[in-house]
Amino acid sequence: MQKEKVIIIGSGPAGLTAALYAARANLNPLVLAGDLLGGQISLTSEVENYPGFPQGVSGAELVDLMKTQAERFGARLEYDSVVAVDFSKGSPFYLKSTMAEYEAEAVIVTVGASPRKLGIPGEAEFTGRGVSYCATCDGFFFKGKDVVVVGGGDSALEEGLFLTKFASKVTIVHRRDQLRAGATLQARAAANEKIGYIWDTVVTAIEGDGTVQRVRLHNRKTGGDSVLPTDGVFIFIGHDPNNSIFKGQLAMDQDGYVITDKQMRTSVEGVFAAGEIQDRLYRQIATSVGQGAAAAMMCERWLAEREG
Ligand code: NAP
Repeated sequence: MQKEKVIIIGSGPAGLTAALYAARANLNPLVLAGDLLGGQISLTSEVENYPGFPQGVSGAELVDLMKTQAERFGARLEYDSVVAVDFSKGSPFYLKSTMAEYEAEAVIVTVGASPRKLGIPGEAEFTGRGVSYCATCDGFFFKGKDVVVVGGGDSALEEGLFLTKFASKVTIVHRRDQLRAGATLQARAAANEKIGYIWDTVVTAIEGDGTVQRVRLHNRKTGGDSVLPTDGVFIFIGHDPNNSIFKGQLAMDQDGYVITDKQMRTSVEGVFAAGEIQDRLYRQIATSVGQGAAAAMMCERWLAEREG
């Protein structure tokens, strides 16, 4: 059993910032980074709204900078995923990863959220063969091809715009007749002639022979069904919190977000949470960074009060 003072689960902006603050508070934190260093931002093509980068920065570069900064002050990173936790007996907390077992005096949970699935026929079957949840990862494979983007939020438009660098046509299929995305992205998308819209419509099935060849559509207003030939389907319909290992351990709201107070404390004393696992409202890199800093500060204070 490896004994640690502070374990940070997750390595997105919240986790890497918590690591930086905890390291600078001499807590010698261990970050169990999970499957994807940086979490969702490592898959984001261009970040334009994180202060300090007036020309924008790629998600991968920002992750690398955050990691380097945390490590500079002594944070340790393990490329390992936590598979189970036991918070029931209080501190020290038990954590089991794919490679080891740990005991931690305090824990900061920053495991983020994952892309939501449509749950329609063909979606799972064609994932990686035309169905994707990441334009940055897969856009290149669609050079000169037609793609469908599902969703009407900021992600759908931002990723749809990115896809126009490769695809010859990007058709956004949205279930309503109004976008949820912000005005800036809407204006940029409207000015891009490669982007078209199909309104009031849902995708009911994804079909093909080995790779995606068409989608089946259903118009919610007219009730009409149709078929649209396409080479790819990019799905951006929101996210669900990655809460599976915390069920029964931490209090959550009805949608599975971990409940925290203003000091980033969860329902278990000594366990803090930051970023999209507990934030359904803002979901920005800037806000996750702030929450990660706050969680580490409160964690440090909690440990000091306990010891002192
Ligand atoms: P979102 O804002 O929740 O939008 C999800 C979109 O998918 C909505 O248009 C929704 O339709 C649609 N949708 C949901 N479930 C669906 C289903 N089962 N079938 C068909 N369509 C479905 O999610 P997001 O776009 O991922 O954005 C998440 C957060 O990150 C937001 O706060 C956003 O502002 C932020 N974000 C910001 C930026 C940026 O500032 N550059 C970039 C990306 C994301 P309805 O509209 O009908 O609900």
